[in-house]
Amino acid sequence: MANRQAVCACDACALRFANVLDGRFKLIPRDARALPGFRLSEEEWGAFSLPINLAFFFHSTPAGKVIALYPSPAGAMESLLPVTAWEGLVAENPVLASMESDVEALLVNRVNGARQYFLAPMDACYELAGLIRMHWRGLAGGEAVWAEIGGFFAKLEANHA
Ligand SMILES: [Zn+2]
Repeated sequence: MANRQAVCACDACALRFANVLDGRFKLIPRDARALPGFRLSEEEWGAFSLPINLAFFFHSTPAGKVIALYPSPAGAMESLLPVTAWEGLVAENPVLASMESDVEALLVNRVNGARQYFLAPMDACYELAGLIRMHWRGLAGGEAVWAEIGGFFAKLEANHA
């Protein structure tokens, strides 16, 4: 947890660490949960001042706070998130209270007019960040990266629990 690192994907480790929840390791959930009725106004989104209409928010136990990350050509970047903005989101969207610390994130996709919200496993969020880092070209990203992002969300939408 301290390094925000996914360590292993095998069943043996999943069983071994299943009861070590408050130790150094946590299990990452397998499924994303779509949040169709999620409430987030233009003003609230704007207040986060992110350079791209994609982000994930998670509660970090080691940091003792909610952290916002957005994908960039250089990988996942950390944004300074006003705590009050997060509290407002939770008040409007009580489902956020069920988000698991460290291993689950609120994943927001507002690219090209999309309004998709998920409680997503942390490894899926980093998969998205990796796709963007790998496929981003030039200043605007290029067609390939936006196709990859579209494919990622289509897959997440199809597989969610
Ligand atoms: Zn393993």
